[in-house]
Amino acid sequence: MKKALFALVCIAPLLLCRCSTTYELKSQTFFAMNTFVTVSTAKESTAEEIKALTDKYEKLFSRTLPQSEISILNNDGSLVAKDDTLLLLDKAVQVAKATDGAYNPCMGSVVSLWDISSGKNNVPDSEAVAKALVGTSFENLCIDDNGVSLLQRGTQIDLGGIAKGYALDKAYDKARELGEENFCISFGGNVGVHGSSPSSLKTDKTGWNVGITNPFDKEKTLGTLLMTEGFISVSGAYERYFKKDGKIYHHIFDPKTGYPSESDIACACVVSTDAALGDALSTAMFVMGSDRAREFYKSGQYDFDMILILNDKSILVSDELVPLFSLSDTENFKVKQI
Ligand code: ADP
Ligand code: MG
Repeated sequence: MKKALFALVCIAPLLLCRCSTTYELKSQTFFAMNTFVTVSTAKESTAEEIKALTDKYEKLFSRTLPQSEISILNNDGSLVAKDDTLLLLDKAVQVAKATDGAYNPCMGSVVSLWDISSGKNNVPDSEAVAKALVGTSFENLCIDDNGVSLLQRGTQIDLGGIAKGYALDKAYDKARELGEENFCISFGGNVGVHGSSPSSLKTDKTGWNVGITNPFDKEKTLGTLLMTEGFISVSGAYERYFKKDGKIYHHIFDPKTGYPSESDIACACVVSTDAALGDALSTAMFVMGSDRAREFYKSGQYDFDMILILNDKSILVSDELVPLFSLSDTENFKVKQI
């Protein structure tokens, strides 16, 4: 847990390092939804409202809080869900279908078996993994007029790959509603920005320079992305993990194997106008690996952009982002256009 938490503490400020404000904006950080949330806005009261909102979504979507809607669904196999839960589950199923299950909200039993952030550092045996995989097909999550139901015994929902994005969408809308023009909100690796950072106003490139962590050395930033509006979601193997016998076991699982995904991607960043979608897609791209991710991107099923940092230290950047991405570590990394 300590290691995982340490990693998280490192990621949040790195992602935000260029979002930090000099004087005009006030920043507040709190821990919620298993991550550090930082809100940089003009009014402190905005952060308070966002904190309350985040608390509400955590109480709905958490897999571990016993009274959450997701816990009730996992226990009872059915739920008359609130609108937010219905909307999010529906989005989760859509992305699961579109990504052929690379993003899969029905992985709860696998996520809880590995319990990556617990500090137990336990590698389950293959029998336990095979058992946990039973019921994980996303087709077991059924949403209809009567509510939500799980079609197979053993199916457990886990929204860890999409719920923070959803909360960020709502936090962003709330900030706009409260009249905030220039702000940056991050839920761990999910960041939303609007307008410009005060420091960028002194330059000819206004906006927010969102720092992207070097997945091979998370103390460092490998580049920045200039954004004026919208969201970036980052999924990487360096975020929540433990190391045993020299091997890294991280928190993003390949739904086909039940083991931490082993693609050629070290870190997948998705830029979108829908934070929940971006959150789920970054998880999916990471699992898919660069060939499938590129194919998916080119299929045009969803409107998004991406930066994929590969294990061979090449960085694949989609067209639209090329002029906005600045690589700082030009010695070790090479940018290629998608
Ligand atoms: P983070 O939670 O660190 O932002 P992601 O958005 O990539 O990272 O989500 C990873 C989380 O999603 C895991 O901690 C777990 O709860 C859940 N998860 C793991 N593998 C998958 C998967 N293949 N599809 C959907 N959710 C997953
Ligand atoms: Mg995600």
